[in-house]
Amino acid sequence: MRRSWSAFLCALLILILAAPSWAASLQVEPKRLALGQPALVRLCLPGRPKVVRAELNGREIALAKGTDGCWYGAVAPDLQDKTGGAVVRAKADGKQVAAARIKLFRRDRGARRLKVDPKYLKLSPEALKRYQRDRKKMLAVFGSFTPQSQWHTAFKMPLDSKVVSLFGRRSFINGKERSPHGGIDLRGASGTPVPAAADGTVALVIDAYFSGNTILIDHGRGVITRYLHLSQTVVKPGQKVKKGEIIGKVGATGRVTGPHLDFGVKLAGARVDPQDWVALSRVLSQRLGD
Ligand SMILES: [Zn+2]
Repeated sequence: MRRSWSAFLCALLILILAAPSWAASLQVEPKRLALGQPALVRLCLPGRPKVVRAELNGREIALAKGTDGCWYGAVAPDLQDKTGGAVVRAKADGKQVAAARIKLFRRDRGARRLKVDPKYLKLSPEALKRYQRDRKKMLAVFGSFTPQSQWHTAFKMPLDSKVVSLFGRRSFINGKERSPHGGIDLRGASGTPVPAAADGTVALVIDAYFSGNTILIDHGRGVITRYLHLSQTVVKPGQKVKKGEIIGKVGATGRVTGPHLDFGVKLAGARVDPQDWVALSRVLSQRLGD
């Protein structure tokens, strides 16, 4: 009798110890995150949920099933979000299943001082109208969400050249502070072919007041890339492009001081550091077995 009682206690203890593996477990790496830095999210949970998502600061991203049966994706705070404590929440079929606390801080990326044509600081009524029109079109793309992923391999930096201006640098234009740099500037001579960073669908081709000839590509699962100041664009909205396919040429259109490629990445609407994103997308594609 005593023996079966201790066997029962033993079984109970094993059950209690094993229980956490039945609940959802959420890992976010790294836990100290710079504004604009994407983090890898890993969620392991029982059952067969249909829609699994992760959320940070109100931005949601769909997770995809990895080769180990757990769910993977990335979340990122925007370049201008608040610093301090934040929470990553994981949801399965609309219900929160796990949460993880992280810390957000601002990286010091120095400052840049640019001198540009004063027409880019004091906009004429026509320029202002054009700028507002451009902005509306771009926001419509950034606000859209294609749940299916079109990228099955890691992202690639469009140019293999020197980064002449880092992501997140404070910008002083003609002496006035403006928004920090939301992309990275890659060195490139005018006319250098610009390839797509990953497979996707061209979402917008526009000659915008500030960013000149601009292309936005929607890669699905909340990832959008931007290519600014192009001298020429050779793709049309709605066109599917492959990673490495030429979409335009380096130029100096819009508010610039010389030819270069401004390359940017948005993740669920947050501006993220393209260099961090390229590195993280490599890890993600491994975990997803792409
Ligand atoms: Zn730039």
